[in-house]
Amino acid sequence: MSAGAGRWRGVIAIDGPAASGKSTLARRLAQELGLGWLDTGAFYRAAALAVLRAGADLDDERGAVEVVGRRVISQDAGRTFLDGEDVETEIRTPRVTEAASKVAVLSGVREKLVQSQRRWVEERGGSAVVEGRDIGSVVFPDAPVKVYLTADSEERARRRLAEFGDAPETSAVQESLARRDRTDATRTASPMRLMPDAVEINTTDLNPDQAVERVLGLVRAARVTG
Ligand code: C5P
Repeated sequence: MSAGAGRWRGVIAIDGPAASGKSTLARRLAQELGLGWLDTGAFYRAAALAVLRAGADLDDERGAVEVVGRRVISQDAGRTFLDGEDVETEIRTPRVTEAASKVAVLSGVREKLVQSQRRWVEERGGSAVVEGRDIGSVVFPDAPVKVYLTADSEERARRRLAEFGDAPETSAVQESLARRDRTDATRTASPMRLMPDAVEINTTDLNPDQAVERVLGLVRAARVTG
């Protein structure tokens, strides 16, 4: 690996708002370090898809927990599975995206998903790059490297549009991102927040290589001092 001699051990937590560049960064870092990459947002998306398919109410915690509890959500090589079915494409649709931020406010659903996420990392020997909203605060509070990724809202909308060419105009995407960020930051259960021991990186003017280099610098420093 290029971050220094020896293999990195532990969790690298990447949190931050929607479309701030977390997935690109986490995937690239995982490659560089020879680690697994866990996209926890995909768990909330798959849980939302399960609730939608069951025709259950997204606001009814008991019903949603019941549905999610009966399903197995897993991830492998960047693809997400619901009861063994590859749902990676379906969970990226606007309908599931909006539903994901609704089920993510339900603490009973979060508990179940956090258990699966911790197990996923445990099965990989406790080392992985994990991205989400509550990784450094709740899922892996002892992670030796914590990053909080941000970017200007216009830039985030632009990136999201570039990803999904058939999406509506920038202002509509910006509005949807802002709505989700507001819900994530203000909910009672594990709100998205910048932890005091996290390093904030604004990626507005950084290309993916530069963002990766910044975090590899933190990894090297953690290895030296850890
Ligand atoms: O990261 P992504 O946009 O795919 O996440 C989808 C939704 O899942 C977010 O809007 C957020 O509400 C929720 N989420 C969460 N905690 C995480 C990851 C995602 O609440 N760790």
